[in-house]
Amino acid sequence: MKKHLVEGSFNAFILPTKIILRSENKITMMVPSRMHMDFIKAQYSKVAVEILNELLSDDKSEIKYLIDPDTNFELGNEEESKTVFVHNSENAEVPKTEGLETQNIAKYKKTKLNPKYTFDNFIQGDGNEIAYASAFQVAKNPKNSPYNPILIYGGVGLGKTHLVQAIGNKIFNDTKMNSVLYLKSDQFVNDIVNSIKDKTIDKYKDFLKEKDVIIIDDIQFFARREKSQEEFFHIFESIYQNDGIIILTSDFHPKEIHDLDERLISRFLMGLITDVRPPDLETRAAIIKLKSEELGFDLNDEITMYIANNINTNVRELEGAVRTLHSNYTLNQNESLTIQKAKDVLRGLISQKKVTLNIDKIQDIVSDYFQIKKDLLMSKTRTKEVADARAIAMYLCTTQLNSTTQSIGAHFGGRDHSTVSHAAKKIQELLNEKDPEISKIYDDILHTINLLTY
Ligand code: ADP
Ligand code: MG
Repeated sequence: MKKHLVEGSFNAFILPTKIILRSENKITMMVPSRMHMDFIKAQYSKVAVEILNELLSDDKSEIKYLIDPDTNFELGNEEESKTVFVHNSENAEVPKTEGLETQNIAKYKKTKLNPKYTFDNFIQGDGNEIAYASAFQVAKNPKNSPYNPILIYGGVGLGKTHLVQAIGNKIFNDTKMNSVLYLKSDQFVNDIVNSIKDKTIDKYKDFLKEKDVIIIDDIQFFARREKSQEEFFHIFESIYQNDGIIILTSDFHPKEIHDLDERLISRFLMGLITDVRPPDLETRAAIIKLKSEELGFDLNDEITMYIANNINTNVRELEGAVRTLHSNYTLNQNESLTIQKAKDVLRGLISQKKVTLNIDKIQDIVSDYFQIKKDLLMSKTRTKEVADARAIAMYLCTTQLNSTTQSIGAHFGGRDHSTVSHAAKKIQELLNEKDPEISKIYDDILHTINLLTY
């Protein structure tokens, strides 16, 4: 674009934008405000699409715009500053679509959805495959949703909000069923409490009943609130009877949520209940790649694997690590990023999580998993099982701790550091080759470590 624009315009309008996603011939451009978007669309979209066509050797490329909610403060009003997705393509005539778009934008705002959550930018992998597939089924076929209600449960930062919002966004974009509403459960409780107080609860119920799709996030929050649960039960019934789709998330399986009304539990059981679990190594690496691509930031494989090996609790933290590296990189005038520098920058983030983990604990967890005596890890026994357990334990010590191979060797019956490196290398190779047995063992053990060392 720089070639086509005078410098001032380029600096003011193009420089602050970012390409955050590319899928085939569509790119998504994040712009700082609606003003930027309107201006770029009016003045430069044609030339931008032409350039894109040329770069992608395609004649139908498209640009989508995403307004960054963090910088779009134009109206100083929270409602108005919600992100909006607007579609634009070379042949869309601006005047014709203008009216429609404004109408759509208004409708979209009412959904309270965030457009940055889509199926396209969600990495499928071990841990979320079923949740993803079921969510996608519902979104693809909302008229005859195979699962109603659908409830996704699981730990913090594992993509529940992302998935349920992706359902809402897809239904809004692809179908005429665009009366979608996303509610966080505390908002929902507030609305109920207030409407009871103002004696407008019937009106509130009518408002909800008309929705095609209603998404309530983190329902565990209203578990102990009897009145809200009671109202929710009736609201649930009427939405359900009106063929509305109900989408829910919670931190635990409904049966394990304390004080959740039995009637609600049995309603939830009529639909689909599915979970999200922490992603495995490969999925984590793919997420890191995606998140860095979204920032237009290239992380090499070594750094990607370092993050994937060391941050394994939740995806939000993976994202945090990528952001931390990225801001450090931009602050340092884009000086090239080495693995050593990445380790330094991430030290706080990683060691903080590792305070409770040590060699001894890894040995406990591994021997427990293999159901062998811990002493065997230190012994000279070489049966396959013990040798595997020992090698995995050594690998975990090298990747999860900041210990040296010397000290790890010392804790494994005084073995030499080269034995540790050799064993660790072997396991890394098996994981790279996706050896099914070792990969499964590794993921299971890592999962236990995550549970025990949070
Ligand atoms: P939860 O609601 O389960 O606490 P979120 O949906 O808020 O988690 O996810 C936390 C962050 O991690 C979000 O920015 C989300 O986009 C991202 N995220 C989680 N899982 C994935 C995934 N599989 N692929 C891409 N991004 C993910
Ligand atoms: Mg959430």
